[in-house]
Amino acid sequence: MDDCIFCKITKGEIPSAKVFEDDKIIAFNDINPKARVHILVVPKKHIESVKHLERADKEMIGELFLAAKKIAEEKNLQGYKLVINVGREGGQLVDHLHLHLLS
Ligand code: 5GP
Ligand code: ZN
Repeated sequence: MDDCIFCKITKGEIPSAKVFEDDKIIAFNDINPKARVHILVVPKKHIESVKHLERADKEMIGELFLAAKKIAEEKNLQGYKLVINVGREGGQLVDHLHLHLLS
Protein backbone atom coordinates (compact mmCIF):
# COMPACT_ATOMS: atom_id res chain seq x y z
CA MET A 1 0.00 0.00 0.00
CA ASP A 2 1.85 3.05 -1.34
CA ASP A 3 0.06 5.68 0.74
CA CYS A 4 -0.17 3.74 4.01
CA ILE A 5 1.59 5.52 6.86
CA PHE A 6 2.36 2.30 8.80
CA CYS A 7 3.73 0.59 5.67
CA LYS A 8 6.01 3.62 5.24
CA ILE A 9 7.14 3.35 8.88
CA THR A 10 7.72 -0.42 8.38
CA LYS A 11 9.94 0.34 5.36
CA GLY A 12 11.77 3.12 7.23
CA GLU A 13 10.46 5.78 4.83
CA ILE A 14 8.93 7.66 7.78
CA PRO A 15 10.91 7.82 11.04
CA SER A 16 9.52 6.34 14.24
CA ALA A 17 10.67 5.67 17.80
CA LYS A 18 11.01 1.91 17.39
CA VAL A 19 10.76 -0.30 20.48
CA PHE A 20 10.63 -3.78 18.85
CA GLU A 21 11.18 -5.37 15.47
CA ASP A 22 11.40 -8.89 14.07
CA ASP A 23 10.67 -10.35 10.64
CA LYS A 24 6.86 -10.08 11.00
CA ILE A 25 6.18 -7.33 13.54
CA ILE A 26 7.30 -3.77 14.25
CA ALA A 27 6.41 -1.67 17.31
CA PHE A 28 6.94 2.03 17.91
CA ASN A 29 5.78 4.80 20.20
CA ASP A 30 2.48 6.46 19.27
CA ILE A 31 3.11 9.98 17.99
CA ASN A 32 0.22 11.32 20.09
CA PRO A 33 0.33 9.21 23.30
CA LYS A 34 -2.90 8.76 25.28
CA ALA A 35 -1.04 7.19 28.25
CA ARG A 36 2.44 7.27 29.79
CA VAL A 37 3.24 4.19 27.71
CA HIS A 38 1.49 4.10 24.34
CA ILE A 39 3.05 1.76 21.84
CA LEU A 40 1.64 0.61 18.50
CA VAL A 41 2.32 -3.04 17.66
CA VAL A 42 1.98 -3.52 13.91
CA PRO A 43 2.24 -6.50 11.54
CA LYS A 44 4.61 -5.70 8.68
CA LYS A 45 2.11 -7.23 6.25
CA HIS A 46 -0.52 -4.69 5.18
CA ILE A 47 -3.91 -5.86 6.47
CA GLU A 48 -6.53 -3.14 6.68
CA SER A 49 -8.29 -4.21 9.87
CA VAL A 50 -9.62 -7.14 11.88
CA LYS A 51 -12.47 -7.19 9.35
CA HIS A 52 -9.94 -8.19 6.68
CA LEU A 53 -8.28 -11.05 8.58
CA GLU A 54 -8.17 -14.48 6.99
CA ARG A 55 -7.37 -17.88 8.47
CA ALA A 56 -3.93 -17.68 6.87
CA ASP A 57 -3.21 -14.70 9.15
CA LYS A 58 -3.73 -16.59 12.41
CA GLU A 59 -0.02 -17.17 13.06
CA MET A 60 0.71 -13.49 12.48
CA ILE A 61 -2.04 -12.53 14.97
CA GLY A 62 -0.39 -14.78 17.54
CA GLU A 63 2.95 -13.07 16.85
CA LEU A 64 1.27 -9.68 17.34
CA PHE A 65 0.10 -10.57 20.85
CA LEU A 66 3.38 -12.27 21.77
CA ALA A 67 5.29 -9.15 20.67
CA ALA A 68 3.02 -7.01 22.89
CA LYS A 69 3.68 -9.36 25.83
CA LYS A 70 7.45 -9.24 25.21
CA ILE A 71 7.48 -5.44 25.08
CA ALA A 72 5.43 -5.24 28.29
CA GLU A 73 7.87 -7.60 30.03
CA GLU A 74 10.88 -5.65 28.80
CA LYS A 75 9.33 -2.42 30.08
CA ASN A 76 8.40 -4.13 33.34
CA LEU A 77 4.75 -3.11 33.01
CA GLN A 78 2.68 -4.59 35.82
CA GLY A 79 -0.60 -4.08 33.98
CA TYR A 80 -1.67 -2.74 30.64
CA LYS A 81 -4.45 -2.55 28.09
CA LEU A 82 -4.36 -3.98 24.56
CA VAL A 83 -6.80 -2.20 22.27
CA ILE A 84 -7.67 -2.78 18.62
CA ASN A 85 -9.97 -0.25 17.00
CA VAL A 86 -11.92 -1.70 14.08
CA GLY A 87 -13.38 0.45 11.32
CA ARG A 88 -14.08 4.19 11.33
CA GLU A 89 -17.09 3.67 13.63
CA GLY A 90 -14.77 1.75 15.97
CA GLY A 91 -12.29 4.63 16.17
CA GLN A 92 -9.80 3.27 13.62
CA LEU A 93 -8.05 6.14 11.85
CA VAL A 94 -5.10 4.32 10.27
CA ASP A 95 -6.22 1.54 7.93
CA HIS A 96 -3.36 -0.85 8.72
CA LEU A 97 -4.09 -3.34 11.52
CA HIS A 98 -2.43 -2.39 14.82
CA LEU A 99 -2.60 -3.12 18.51
CA HIS A 100 -2.42 -0.26 21.03
CA LEU A 101 -0.36 -1.16 24.12
CA LEU A 102 -1.34 1.33 26.82
CA SER A 103 -0.11 1.58 30.38
P1 5GP B 1 -6.29 4.18 15.44
O1 5GP B 1 -7.19 5.32 15.78
O2 5GP B 1 -6.24 3.95 13.94
O3 5GP B 1 -6.56 2.93 16.20
O4 5GP B 1 -4.84 4.61 15.91
C1 5GP B 1 -3.92 5.24 15.08
C2 5GP B 1 -2.81 5.76 15.96
O5 5GP B 1 -1.70 6.06 15.15
C3 5GP B 1 -3.18 7.04 16.73
O6 5GP B 1 -3.07 6.81 18.13
C4 5GP B 1 -2.16 8.06 16.22
O7 5GP B 1 -1.70 8.93 17.23
C5 5GP B 1 -1.06 7.19 15.66
N1 5GP B 1 -0.32 7.76 14.55
C6 5GP B 1 -0.84 8.35 13.44
N2 5GP B 1 0.14 8.73 12.61
C7 5GP B 1 1.31 8.37 13.19
C8 5GP B 1 2.69 8.50 12.80
O8 5GP B 1 3.05 9.03 11.74
N3 5GP B 1 3.62 8.01 13.66
C9 5GP B 1 3.28 7.40 14.84
N4 5GP B 1 4.29 6.98 15.61
N5 5GP B 1 1.99 7.27 15.24
C10 5GP B 1 1.03 7.74 14.42
ZN1 ZN C 1 -0.03 -0.58 5.46
